[in-house]
Amino acid sequence: MSTRNYFFSQFNSVPAFSARAPGRIEFIGNHLDYNGGPVLGAAINRYVTVAVGPRSDEKIVLVSAAQSDCIKTTLDAAEQPLSGAEAWGNYPLGMLKVMRDAGMSVYNGFNIAVTNDLPLGTGLSSSAALELATGYALAAFHGFALDRKRIAVLGRAAENSFVGMPCGILDQGTVAFGRAGALVLIDCEKETFSTRSLPAGTHFWIFNTLKKHSLVDSLYATRHRECAEAFEILRRADPVLINLAAASETQIEAARAALGTERFKRALHVARETARVHDTLDALDAGDLPRVGRNLTASHESSRLFFENSCDELDFLAERVAGAPDVFGARLSGGGFGGAVMAFTGSTFSEADAGGIVDAYAAKFGTKPSIFHAETGDGAELFDE
Ligand code: ADP
Ligand code: MG
Repeated sequence: MSTRNYFFSQFNSVPAFSARAPGRIEFIGNHLDYNGGPVLGAAINRYVTVAVGPRSDEKIVLVSAAQSDCIKTTLDAAEQPLSGAEAWGNYPLGMLKVMRDAGMSVYNGFNIAVTNDLPLGTGLSSSAALELATGYALAAFHGFALDRKRIAVLGRAAENSFVGMPCGILDQGTVAFGRAGALVLIDCEKETFSTRSLPAGTHFWIFNTLKKHSLVDSLYATRHRECAEAFEILRRADPVLINLAAASETQIEAARAALGTERFKRALHVARETARVHDTLDALDAGDLPRVGRNLTASHESSRLFFENSCDELDFLAERVAGAPDVFGARLSGGGFGGAVMAFTGSTFSEADAGGIVDAYAAKFGTKPSIFHAETGDGAELFDE
């Protein structure tokens, strides 16, 4: 059902504006965003779509085809995050809150309906897609304009402050700036965004374990904290150090004792991953796809050994997929601790090749990962169905 029809079925009226925002793949640059490093992502052609329309009373009502709980609130009540089955409302209402906090005036009384062909909670960043689609739809409805950078920054603020997830700008930046056939390069220190064309004949495959560590949110927060502590320790020796991604391996080695084993490993991952992103950009410029692939595979190894955000299932998939014919490289994509492996392949990698890996995985782990041949897509935008 179209979002417009879904909106009509729920509210018996037509929406005034709709916007859609894509999911994203993290290509390389694992956990570099909140450390000020460079990251590369790609938007995919699966979307979350948000429609907004007026109400005759002062309420704000939200429904989603992916959720059984309808949320009824008001501007005042929406200042506080929701919990339990209504927690999905924190993404759109968080967006509303940060927009209001930034001085945009919002009327009381509107309906929001959300649909998706992007799967939720599988590491493809449906959360950022929901934030940005809501942002564009609400901005149009209330008569103001948001550029791509502004909406990415607001979406991140909503996720950090209202949802309580200390993510960097990778998700929202890629969702905002994505373009079909392109990678999005983000300098997370300067918050600058650009695109790079993908080489012809390259493809993305996503192997999703459909597993999520039960502590994934607190594990993410722990890594975030360890990185912040490592940066503080390194800055004592080098007061002009701007972020952890700017620390050299030599500096990290010199501070090894002060850092302790865990922070040392996290910092080493960040330094080497930063170098890998730069090398990947050079390799893309040179058209050297095997070298791009070696960086992807090395990134996974670093997540496994140094950042310790992988798991047996992801390791199995990354190794099998990277070893398959016409695969340049494979790595965990996103925060880790479960979730998905991304493979960067040529044109001959097939459904049958992917199926063989799925069968081997099922024989070992007893469950089947989902496979998905992802095509790149355009970033968040107002959208007339
Ligand atoms: P990911 O961003 O990788 O998909 P997250 O756990 O960060 O995973 O975000 C998923 C959460 O975002 C869902 O559990 C839900 O609360 C919310 N969400 C995303 N898309 C939708 C949608 N279309 N409708 C309702 N809630 C959504
Ligand atoms: Mg998310």
